[in-house]
Amino acid sequence: MLNNTLGDSFFTSHDELNIAENAWKNYFNSFESEVIATAIIAFLMHEIVYFGRCIPFMIADFIPSFAKYKLQPNKVNTVEEQWVCLKSVLKAHFLIELPLIFSFHSVATFFGMDIAKVPFPHWQTMCYQVAIFFVFEDTFHYWFHRLLHYGPFYKYIHKQHHEYSAPFGLAAEYAHPIEVLILGTGTIGGPLAYVAITQNLHLVTVFIWISLRLFQTIDAHSGYDFPWSLRHFLPFWAGAEHHDYHHMAFVNCFSTSFRWWDHLMGTDLKYQAYRKKKDEELKVASTSDSKKIN
Ligand SMILES: [Zn+2]
Ligand SMILES: [Zn+2]
Repeated sequence: MLNNTLGDSFFTSHDELNIAENAWKNYFNSFESEVIATAIIAFLMHEIVYFGRCIPFMIADFIPSFAKYKLQPNKVNTVEEQWVCLKSVLKAHFLIELPLIFSFHSVATFFGMDIAKVPFPHWQTMCYQVAIFFVFEDTFHYWFHRLLHYGPFYKYIHKQHHEYSAPFGLAAEYAHPIEVLILGTGTIGGPLAYVAITQNLHLVTVFIWISLRLFQTIDAHSGYDFPWSLRHFLPFWAGAEHHDYHHMAFVNCFSTSFRWWDHLMGTDLKYQAYRKKKDEELKVASTSDSKKIN
């Protein structure tokens, strides 16, 4: 049987599959073509995670007690502005990402990625592979993002992403098509390079990685820094507070997930000075508040 056509015999040797593995097996078994099956599940996964992750932040905008966690409370993005953003993001998803998703299967299998195979890899294998992809993407993004701030690259490509100086979740993928391609390479290039070298990577691990990467970028653009945001527990995690400054000031904080590249290269000095000033203002405000109470 051809590689791209699935037969039942492929799966019969595994008796003890968990629920997710069984669902994966049944899903791929229900298609004649593994290419189509991969494209549909990849596209749906992207849409569900992207818009699903944006919804809680949209709801937060209507909860008054969350307003104090807004990073730029004085800047409000109107419904019209958010609508323009949504239309642009959807256009990019269907016209740029969907054709690329269809070509993903042939590239991934060319490099040796497991697609329909069950059982899945061990969770520890998934964890370290996802950690490698996070570090790779952050490094790739840092340097290419810095390049996109250079003269003509900024003017003709990156400027679109900076239209919202107070970003919101939906604006995470609001970017020029060339930027989508360049920075998307950081997300998918890591897994492809990894599987080309090791011959050990499953599509499900790539899906977990992309889902976490979507969570990361939507959180970073959410405009909210909650007390439970990850950066309060992992000091090297960038989070919204880091990337929001980049949108507000158009300088510094070029990385995505981690703070180390900006720290190492001195591209967080203005951000640090701003944080210091803000912290001092907060301290003064809370001292005068407590004096009033006393
Ligand atoms: Zn930028
Ligand atoms: Zn951004």
